[in-house]
Amino acid sequence: MKIDMHAHHFPRITREEAAALSADRGPWLRVDEGGKTGQIMRADRPFRPVYDSLWDPHARLAEMDAQGVDIQITCATPIMFGYEFAPEKVLPWAQRMNDLALEFCAAAPKRLVALAQVPLQDIDAACREASRAKATGHHGVQIGNHLGDRDLDDEGLVTFLQHCANENIPLLVHPWDMMGGNRMKQWMLPWLVAMPAETQLGILSLILSGAFERIPESLKICFAHGGGSFAFMLGRVDNAWKHRDIIRKDCPRLPSEYCKRFYVDSAVFDHGALRLLAEVMGTDRIMLGSDYPFPLGEQSIGKLVAEQPGFTDADKRAIYAGNAVEFFGLQSLVG
Ligand SMILES: [Zn+2]
Repeated sequence: MKIDMHAHHFPRITREEAAALSADRGPWLRVDEGGKTGQIMRADRPFRPVYDSLWDPHARLAEMDAQGVDIQITCATPIMFGYEFAPEKVLPWAQRMNDLALEFCAAAPKRLVALAQVPLQDIDAACREASRAKATGHHGVQIGNHLGDRDLDDEGLVTFLQHCANENIPLLVHPWDMMGGNRMKQWMLPWLVAMPAETQLGILSLILSGAFERIPESLKICFAHGGGSFAFMLGRVDNAWKHRDIIRKDCPRLPSEYCKRFYVDSAVFDHGALRLLAEVMGTDRIMLGSDYPFPLGEQSIGKLVAEQPGFTDADKRAIYAGNAVEFFGLQSLVG
């Protein structure tokens, strides 16, 4: 059994629909003649070339079959979040995207599972939409790792996390809106340098602020891309906590003690990195995640885990499926 818990979709949103969100920045999908390829667009500007698995569930299922993926958990492409737009426009947008995600998954309800998106800039609306999405069939919510200058320790965002803990809504935190600005104009540096840092920042903002102390331990929260730079830099953070009181002031425990409060996916692309991740997080807190169907994802889904030196069969079963079944409550799909 192989469950890929980090995959994205993008519905066939027209330019007119996107304009209701924002005339000059609303994301939409331009499908090329023949229907096999296309572009994610912002107004008349191309954002990313894509192919039909991103919007066509039947093309996706054929690739899942070829890859031996039994179940895929799919969520919005982060450009769809809409956090930068007026809240009153983003709630109907998020609802529409969430309903379209369920339509996409309806092509194979036992194999395609959706995570919702929420209008995080309005915490009350985000909580309501997370609950509505759960009631309509979503298995959790994907959020970005920050909202402008507000990181996950922000009071409103902590309220949202508490809501998800109390309502048993699992969360995937995905980096987006990367730091670095004009210093990262080329070579996909925002994806290579800033994305891992964004994820590390998201995790550390929950740990060092003491937010984990205020959030119920029942919260199920997973960070994408193996937690970004977090695992490799954890020794530096623990050392800093021991030797500088300004790092201890809001965080009562050694930072590494909080690793048991969250999960990560397996998208690290390197056996040494995966070994470190397993040492830091434990194989019971890593879930197979590929970042499909994008070029920066794992192209042969699950190969890294399958060939990982030192992993037992039980480790591989847990990462491939067991951990995700528990995390997302998929028992009815695999029983
Ligand atoms: Zn992703």
